[in-house]
Amino acid sequence: MSPPSLIDTHPNLSDTAPVALSYELFPPRSPAAAETLWTTIRELETTEPDYVSVTYGASGSNRDTAVELINRLLLETTLRPLAHLTCVGNTPQELAGIIGELLDTGVRGILALRGDLPKDGGEPVPGALRYAQDLIELVRRVEQRRSALLCAGKIAVGVAAYPTRHPESPSEAHDVEVLLAKQRSGADFAITQVFFRAEQYADLLTRARRAGVTIPIIPGVMPLTSLRRLKRLGELAGVEPAPELMERLGAADSDLDRLHIGVNATVDLANAALEAGAPGIHLYTFNEHQSALEVLDKLALPRRIHASSGRNIAARQLAG
Ligand code: FAD
Repeated sequence: MSPPSLIDTHPNLSDTAPVALSYELFPPRSPAAAETLWTTIRELETTEPDYVSVTYGASGSNRDTAVELINRLLLETTLRPLAHLTCVGNTPQELAGIIGELLDTGVRGILALRGDLPKDGGEPVPGALRYAQDLIELVRRVEQRRSALLCAGKIAVGVAAYPTRHPESPSEAHDVEVLLAKQRSGADFAITQVFFRAEQYADLLTRARRAGVTIPIIPGVMPLTSLRRLKRLGELAGVEPAPELMERLGAADSDLDRLHIGVNATVDLANAALEAGAPGIHLYTFNEHQSALEVLDKLALPRRIHASSGRNIAARQLAG
């Protein structure tokens, strides 16, 4: 057996990495929504997330507002955007153009997604990409062509992962095979769909690692403080909401009660995911900061934060 290398024995390299923190935002649909969003962005910025992801409508339905939001994040904030990109209904030529545009604005992270299929079923667009895996390969192709512009650096490519079966998938085992295929095509990390039971995330990790998936799988958690939103989410994402959470939210008689219930449930879920080995937490914010910040305060993630940050519990705890 060879002796441990210098790298193996270096004391600072045996530290565990800080937990990653990120938020999901969506492009605003009106000037009033934009104003609220920018209040949220400024509040979230004080927590120094590692990145914020910006959603993208299936078939590029909100391309301009998404690109505009990403541009402003890059120009006016300290935040690093992760641009979602969907491929359903788009040809490789169209998508290569969008990828190039994102890279030109300074984006260095793309979440490569298929996007939801149109509800009416519609005719598939001739020559359009079919799966997220195709989009990953296209991003890598564009990256290769622009290698000199990127100083031979890399674009971080993320993908979706599913703690509960994707609605179109025959089984959870198939979902893991797809995740493995996405890793082989060049995905660097995955963010999960929402889930309501910690064991669903832990089981996904176990199944994925057993199948050979080695990339980080970051749990996506959503502070659920509204019964209406919980039901809508169930319909949209095909994820069955936890009945006990629905019951408790239904029985609550004030917004404040609902906030406490939703925040506490999210903190428990995130803590259990961290316990299961999650390398970070991705918070679905619905463009609202209050519940996200409350979750963060209660989670007290072990993170390194610059001294200028006004709102960081980990830093406050270290200081106190
Ligand atoms: P894929 O990985 O392509 O999978 C789609 C389906 O095809 C699955 O059922 C899969 O099992 C199957 N499949 C994949 N590859 C193969 C193959 N080679 N052979 C056979 N079957 C295959 N949607 C948006 O419109 N905009 C967003 O911004 C957005 N952000 C999201 C962020 C996250 C973190 C997550 C988890 C989802 C997001 N979605 C978004 C939703 C996503 O687009 C849908 O869940 C969509 O239905 C599937 O996308 P995917 O990237 O997982 O697709």
